[in-house]
Amino acid sequence: MEAKKCEIHDDILKPADVPIHYGLLSIDDKFVEARERLFPNANSFVMGGCVFQDENEMELLICEKCREAENDWQEEN
Ligand SMILES: [Zn+2]
Repeated sequence: MEAKKCEIHDDILKPADVPIHYGLLSIDDKFVEARERLFPNANSFVMGGCVFQDENEMELLICEKCREAENDWQEEN
């Protein structure tokens, strides 16, 4: 099976435990837009609305460079 890669950074995605956020979150449009464009695989959290389980974390594939890009973006905005 071929390893999945980040379409932006061409890095191999690694499994990580990602916190699930339940309830309504105020995520601003700017963040959503930046995430799609700059760090689509950061997966720093999961929206719990569409995930039906009793856990607070789930395993997802993440790109470390997307995480870094997200951190940089958060600092600038
Ligand atoms: Zn990436």
